[in-house]
Amino acid sequence: MHPEINWLQPAEMNLINPFYPPNKLSTLKVLKFGGTSLGSAERIRVATDITRANENCIVVCSAMSGMTNSLIQVAQSWENGETETALSQLETIRHPFDSHCSQLINNSDILSETGAIFNEVASLINGIFIPIYRSRVIALGEQVTSRMVCRYLQHIGNPAVLLDATSFLHLNDHDEPVVEDIARRFSADPLFSGKGIFVTQGFICRNHQGEVATLSRGGSDFTATLVGAALNAELIEIWTDIDGMHNNDPRHVAGTRPIRELSYTEAAELAYFGAKILHPTCVRPAREKNVPVCIKNTFDPSAPGTTIQAETPSTGIRAIAAKDNINILRITSGRMFNAYGFLAKVFEVFRKHRVPVDVVTTSEVSVSVTIEDATGLAPLLEELGQLGQVDLETDRCIICVVGDVLQPGHIACILQHLKVFDIRMVSLGASSNNITFVLPIAQKVEALNALQPVLSHSTDKSLALCTTTGS
Ligand code: ASP
Ligand code: MG
Repeated sequence: MHPEINWLQPAEMNLINPFYPPNKLSTLKVLKFGGTSLGSAERIRVATDITRANENCIVVCSAMSGMTNSLIQVAQSWENGETETALSQLETIRHPFDSHCSQLINNSDILSETGAIFNEVASLINGIFIPIYRSRVIALGEQVTSRMVCRYLQHIGNPAVLLDATSFLHLNDHDEPVVEDIARRFSADPLFSGKGIFVTQGFICRNHQGEVATLSRGGSDFTATLVGAALNAELIEIWTDIDGMHNNDPRHVAGTRPIRELSYTEAAELAYFGAKILHPTCVRPAREKNVPVCIKNTFDPSAPGTTIQAETPSTGIRAIAAKDNINILRITSGRMFNAYGFLAKVFEVFRKHRVPVDVVTTSEVSVSVTIEDATGLAPLLEELGQLGQVDLETDRCIICVVGDVLQPGHIACILQHLKVFDIRMVSLGASSNNITFVLPIAQKVEALNALQPVLSHSTDKSLALCTTTGS
């Protein structure tokens, strides 16, 4: 637990701030705009038009598109001791940013405000590299973008208030955000009244040592759902550049459709297995507080998008998603037969080496797991080698089919469409709404296309497809 955090009980919070308990804020919305939705002066105008349609809202801003990638390069050059390169890379970010600002607001106040943040980072870079300050460089994107959005809203007559995410989003000593702590910090913030428009940064936070830190990449979605859950918002809108989550990968498959409604479980699975639209961890806080999440398209604001909420009575096969860069580790051991504690030993090795495991399958004599990153595995492989024979298969992908797969006939139907593929692992039954396959990455696109006919909102229709296409 964070030593500085004073864990108040809800009754005590009530004394501090009249806006607690948060259900008093039931008309509050959280709107998160991603990098492409804030990628130019024109896009920012659209985002602020969407914002102004709401009376009470918190706007969570990502960095303008591309900024975080460029800032990571700046931090890398700094770390390499290449000060000149780092400074000139920073200038390359600053120049277009300034010109977007000037297109929106024709006075120099905004440029001196954001310029001060650029200068602060430049002076850090002029000194020696300090690992704990790396995040201060990377956080610049969200800091300057949120200022630009807030000042523009004020410029066009909305008294928006800028909130500093590092003052309300603190990680505990497991590097995790805690919804109740965020609620407490909001309730103690004199700038936050719950009425009107508030603008803040996604992605950035403080770690348990109190240093500026960041969530994992794409983490602005997570900030939005944490804030939405903490304040018991009416709705969390994730504004992006596509009209919701699609039922298959639109980059590889023609004729995909946005899914209108998803349950929290289905959305979490799809987000994890490659549907890049939503950050995988962001569903949890919304689900815990039962706040609906809506994915909307800033390029087509009136399109319905995808609404994610408590279990919806979904039928049929809902969606297909794939995840690249997967490796299989197979541990085979005679000692596993009839023994207890063998799997615990295997997973203890993964825990010790901090290697996350995705899909797991077991037989009486072997256990197979998938992992994402196959670099630097030698120490892990060596230790696993003491438990049994270890085989590593690289260049694999995961294909996940989401829907009521346990309905009689559905698995047979899915397998029939995959019959020509080289399936290396199958995981079924962990939940009733997904079946996961591991295949060679070279077969991914073909397999996604082969599965497209099983998608249907109607159970009968998807089963009928099997009888007509199968042979
Ligand atoms: N700007 C951050 C990133 O690119 C966070 C986000 O956009 O969600 O990862
Ligand atoms: Mg994103």
